[in-house]
Amino acid sequence: MNHPIVFLGAGPGDPELLTLKGRRLLDAADVVVYAGSLVNPALLDGVRAEIHDSAGMTLDEVLAVLIAAWRAGRKAVRLHTGDPSLYGAIREQMQRLDREGITYEVVPGVSSAFAAAAALKAELTVPEITQTVIFTRIGGRTAVPEAESLRRLAAVRASMCIFLSAGMMEQVVAELLAGGCPPDTPAAVVEKASWPEQHIVRGTLADIAAKAAGIRKTAMILVSAAFSDMETAASKLYDAGFRHGYRQG
Ligand code: SAH
Repeated sequence: MNHPIVFLGAGPGDPELLTLKGRRLLDAADVVVYAGSLVNPALLDGVRAEIHDSAGMTLDEVLAVLIAAWRAGRKAVRLHTGDPSLYGAIREQMQRLDREGITYEVVPGVSSAFAAAAALKAELTVPEITQTVIFTRIGGRTAVPEAESLRRLAAVRASMCIFLSAGMMEQVVAELLAGGCPPDTPAAVVEKASWPEQHIVRGTLADIAAKAAGIRKTAMILVSAAFSDMETAASKLYDAGFRHGYRQG
């Protein structure tokens, strides 16, 4: 019998932010391939599987390991940081598996975007400020379509979780300002959210690049007008004057 290969979201770092399903699948796995530079190795404590670090492996090598395990009837887990659907490059892996008729499934994880918001104790969707969240990145070695450049997205004035961009803070800020975000827009950088060495820097677009200058990687940039003035920004949902379907004001 073949067991579907599992693309598993490892969560942002804290081993307790792995789902119960993820824990069960890891403990039962025969083969695990994980990105050593991003996934907390503590997740693998006590795991009896044969473990491969994908850091030095090509896509073909990763697939070869997963496919060999599948054909042998072994349980294979491909561990991805955060949630696999965001910047996980799972599509190219799954396309190959489809071509070879190999079964797989995806198990979600807690994205670092949510771990970073939790570290900030922030609500990303505050009524009357913004009801939209954008997950994005600045273009680097991987290009970003021009229609969704940070400069263009800035015009939406949504909350933004900016991945893979901490090494280009100056450009991130310059693009957002050029796109019309006011310089006093609140911004934060959360490095290693949920890890013991988690580090938070708060500021505005005017000063965040200077304040976070030393942070280069494994960091989330969050920008949102909803982070300002916690008093007035508090959700109106629990306000006595607010009427909705379940409660008459
Ligand atoms: N699928 C992952 C993202 C992978 S891309 C997720 O859902 O979180 C890698 C980028 O994610 C990093 O450049 C960084 O921007 C962010 N990241 C991953 N782990 C992080 C963490 N613990 N704290 C802050 N940012 C993190």
